[in-house]
Amino acid sequence: MLSYFIWTIGCQMNQAESDRLSALFEARGYQAVPDIEAAGIIIVNSCMVRKSAENRTINKLMMLKHLKNTSPETKIVLTGCLVSENTDEQKEQYPFVDYFLKAGGKFDFEGITNENPGVLPAQAAVSSPVTIIQGCNNFCSYCIVPYRRGREKSRPEDEIVNEVKMLVERGAKEVVLLGQNVDSYGHDLPGKPDLAGLLHKLNDVEGLQRIRFLTNHPKDMTSQLIEAISGLEKVCEKVNLPVQAGDDDTLAAMGRGYNVAQYVALVDRLRKSVPDIALTTDIIVGFPGENEHRFANTMKLLVTRCFVGVHAAMYSPRPETMAAKKFDDNINQEEKKKRVKLLDKAQAVIAGEINARLAGKKIEVLVEGRKKGKWYGRTRSDKLVFFESSDNWMGQTVCVKIENTSPWSLKGRIIET
Ligand code: SAM
Ligand code: SF4
Repeated sequence: MLSYFIWTIGCQMNQAESDRLSALFEARGYQAVPDIEAAGIIIVNSCMVRKSAENRTINKLMMLKHLKNTSPETKIVLTGCLVSENTDEQKEQYPFVDYFLKAGGKFDFEGITNENPGVLPAQAAVSSPVTIIQGCNNFCSYCIVPYRRGREKSRPEDEIVNEVKMLVERGAKEVVLLGQNVDSYGHDLPGKPDLAGLLHKLNDVEGLQRIRFLTNHPKDMTSQLIEAISGLEKVCEKVNLPVQAGDDDTLAAMGRGYNVAQYVALVDRLRKSVPDIALTTDIIVGFPGENEHRFANTMKLLVTRCFVGVHAAMYSPRPETMAAKKFDDNINQEEKKKRVKLLDKAQAVIAGEINARLAGKKIEVLVEGRKKGKWYGRTRSDKLVFFESSDNWMGQTVCVKIENTSPWSLKGRIIET
């Protein structure tokens, strides 16, 4: 039997690429096995955004080095952000790896190629990811992504629309459009289509119920996009808008291309056009030079802007990046941990209050699966909702009356379909 195993770490784009690889393997007659040691081909889809993710990937590779010693016929493939532009050095470092595939690049190995974009899973997930743009041109000073994923490369609009139609035919009800910066979609294509135009086209796809997209870059979010979120019925009222810091000096050192006032003005414009919009953000703490005062500015932004979710990460110097070369990593690990805890604690209170207001409300939920005897799904604003029922609600849109809330999820009772 031809068999494979994929180990994935990192962002939703890595997960989407692993899903795509699975579909390609299945189309060639391979079968996924639950046990890594039983697989004929092992794919490691790696992340290097922070040192912790890189370490986990290297540990996995070391385990595979031993496996390769005992079973030399097993093929090992490394993909994701660990694969650098020039793989010569990595080939010396990891001689037991058979193939190095650049993240988001074209490949052809063991009869598996992604030259044909039409290969999709036989059964699509209720909420299916669709990558619309690869790479990034921004070079934020701390970030390794542009060095490992290359420059922005958008997929043609027709290809995306056709893929979404096929996913809907195979069971998808929602699509999540993915890119490191979806707001710059299309600038590299003939005729320069944009994300707002793509959303209009996808809104017309019959059978599709919801459209989401991430990640947005505050400096690139256009009025047309805000109008599309407010005007198109299938586009959900949820935006991930990473701010990274609430302090102008830190933002300038990060090379983000906006200041706090511009970010706040954008949030206000979004809230004016889409009053019930749910906003989430990413924040890096302990960036070089982030003194108490600068961190207090970030805390202030968090508390006043009422995000429904915040992903806080400790700054991790990354090879090749400007920040690693130019700045001393001068905030110690203990202090970084303390700041993440402070942010998480403040955010839990805010999210708890926002969610508590939903108690007693009837909310539309798209059911995505079942866990520990409970059905779960998401609201249009991306909140996780659990309910109990012995009927099969998979893939259906139901109305749930919220009975219990916490900062992280909601629980309720199904009242109608
Ligand atoms: N393109 C998105 C943006 O502009 O925010 C995010 C892409 S990045 C892969 C995902 C998140 O990882 C970022 O939002 C940032 O908070 C975090 N991140 C990136 N580089 C980091 C670093 N060197 N240390 C800590 N966190 C980092
Ligand atoms: Fe990294 Fe900045 Fe590009 Fe996001 S926008 S992927 S943080 S360089």
